[in-house]
Amino acid sequence: MQKQQYRGIGSAAVAALVLVSFAMRLSTVAAGQSQSKAQTPTAEKTQTKVVLLGTGTPRPYPDRSGPATAIVVGERAYLVDFGPCVVRRAAAAAEKGTPELESTNVKTAFLTHLHSDHTAGYPDLILTPWVMGRTELDVYGPDGLEEMTKHVLEAWRQDIEIRTKGLEQRRALVVRAHDVKPGVVYKDDRATVTAFRVPHGQWPEAFGYRFDTPGKSIVISGDTSPSEEIVAHCQPCDVLIHEVYSPESVLTMPDYKTYRAKYHTSTNELAEIANRAKPGILVVYHTSGRGPNGRIPDDQLLREIQKTYRGRVVIGHDLEVY
Ligand SMILES: [Zn+2]
Ligand SMILES: [Zn+2]
Repeated sequence: MQKQQYRGIGSAAVAALVLVSFAMRLSTVAAGQSQSKAQTPTAEKTQTKVVLLGTGTPRPYPDRSGPATAIVVGERAYLVDFGPCVVRRAAAAAEKGTPELESTNVKTAFLTHLHSDHTAGYPDLILTPWVMGRTELDVYGPDGLEEMTKHVLEAWRQDIEIRTKGLEQRRALVVRAHDVKPGVVYKDDRATVTAFRVPHGQWPEAFGYRFDTPGKSIVISGDTSPSEEIVAHCQPCDVLIHEVYSPESVLTMPDYKTYRAKYHTSTNELAEIANRAKPGILVVYHTSGRGPNGRIPDDQLLREIQKTYRGRVVIGHDLEVY
């Protein structure tokens, strides 16, 4: 078992960054299992909610924050992706009836891939809840997450030093980043989280995740072109949260049609995936769609999907709960 610990990013005892290798996955699972034996949660304590914190893309629509999804099980919160604006959207969700998303309660996060629209909120996720009183954060994701974490902490080194050594007297910041491989990457008495590979263009590693909680099974696609893994991991699932684009949408890049085909999933392709996966509900997010005449409306996306998919489907919006 390999374990690297960075204590003090440039300064002893200021910030602790513990980088835990893939091998540590098993110890995390084991820790979760022993916790499970210690307490048997009641049904109320394991009620599961999916809260959409960010349903957007890189395009900064004010009503669609960067990709971020919260799974709340009882009083515990798990986050998938941390696009821009993530902490303030979590605070808004807390005010709207999900107090478990108070920023200090967000202590466990999962990353689908390192694209900036999914990670631009990372310094926010690390620093803002810490300033508010949270001390520890565990983050799981593909190769490169540990390195990114180290760089974020280094970039904010002066802030961390002044807040911990100065009059603010903040407790040491602890972030444990885990580069993980597909499989069960996390387990406690509320949730089992399985990562699986999805194809996302030139990214060497991008994940989707499946959450199994006492009340629900949830699959999140992350960014992906049509993937058999999504179908395989939703057999069955209660909620499938999947990205989409409209074939009518356009992008300002030289060969956007080729790019799209390799990186993302069209409405037609998503309908085919959903017909095979048969989720209880399909929640569409990461909706990229700007047509020649401006933003492609939700009802058009819905119509395109429903041409061949007859199951329950919604176009998701920020702060909706499923
Ligand atoms: Zn994206
Ligand atoms: Zn992406």
